[in-house]
Amino acid sequence: LKFCQALPKIELHAHLNGSLRDATIRKLAIKRQLDPSLTKLIEKGDRTLSECFKLFDVIHQITTDHETITGIASEVVEDFAADNVRYLELRTTPKTRSEHGMTKRSYTEAVLKGMQEAQGRQRASKGRSIAVRLLLSIDRREDAAAALETVQLAAELQSRGVVGIDLSGNPTLGQWSTWEPALQEARRQGLKITLHAAEVYNPAETEAMLHFRPDRLGHMCCLDERLEALHYSTGIPVELCLSSNIITESVASYPEHHFHPFYSAGHPVILCTDDSGVFSTSLSKEFAIAAQAFQFSRLQLWQISEAAIDHTFLNEEEKQDLRKEFENARLKLQ
Ligand code: IMP
Repeated sequence: LKFCQALPKIELHAHLNGSLRDATIRKLAIKRQLDPSLTKLIEKGDRTLSECFKLFDVIHQITTDHETITGIASEVVEDFAADNVRYLELRTTPKTRSEHGMTKRSYTEAVLKGMQEAQGRQRASKGRSIAVRLLLSIDRREDAAAALETVQLAAELQSRGVVGIDLSGNPTLGQWSTWEPALQEARRQGLKITLHAAEVYNPAETEAMLHFRPDRLGHMCCLDERLEALHYSTGIPVELCLSSNIITESVASYPEHHFHPFYSAGHPVILCTDDSGVFSTSLSKEFAIAAQAFQFSRLQLWQISEAAIDHTFLNEEEKQDLRKEFENARLKLQ
């Protein structure tokens, strides 16, 4: 784990509200006087995928005002920076809460504010900061109009650090055809796109998603041979979250995780945390798990980490800066 902590890393699949510290969740639950039966849900333990979505709804009940949103965004950026993550692509679902005077735009601005505050503090104390960008998520419970609103917001906020759109949420809900027009619009607006795909076995949807050709995919746990071959042929990089898939029982064991066949086939793979708070993990831990499960050498871990730069939603010049930063870190590690 020590080597994995020292390794400079790139995080490309992290949900804001899934990445909260336990202590912060408990503090907010007390402050918001959360019903004790719901507080129980927060206590850790293995959870099925559907239990995780119940938990997200509980977390959402305690992160309702702008100030809290700014605070948690700032804290999450700091936690990734402390884990030696050099570039973070955070994602979150913009929320409308009329009782708190919150619109999708004001929610997103509160998140951006928190990200900037954390970066400012880092620059002041260390002279440099983690680089951070934001993806706006469409929740599968949302209708076509809500999805389009999120895309339009992302397009308007491109100059402020929003680089793309994610589709996520409970994979048993909703229909691909609902969000596809909004995602087409996102592409027209120059936004990058990543889709949660094949978290449950849904071959028709997975095939439609592959034909859409997003810039990245997340999870891809439940594929048959034909879909796997189709995915390989597209070369679309895949964000893989080991602990998340094991805890939610989407995959039976670490050695059986599809990270290894994808990696062995030379398909672009990116190790990510998904929800570091909910699954009690960190990106360093995910690298350590991969090292143990797949017998990776330090050189292989380094290569996996550095290769993720190619799959970020940054422009070429920004990617080049990150490569230089990795090179400097490599010289220091030797
Ligand atoms: P938020 O978007 O910042 O509120 O982060 C929590 C949300 O991310 C959840 O309500 C889900 O919509 C989404 N999410 C987090 N983890 C997963 C996952 O493993 N699969 C699908 N969606 C997820």
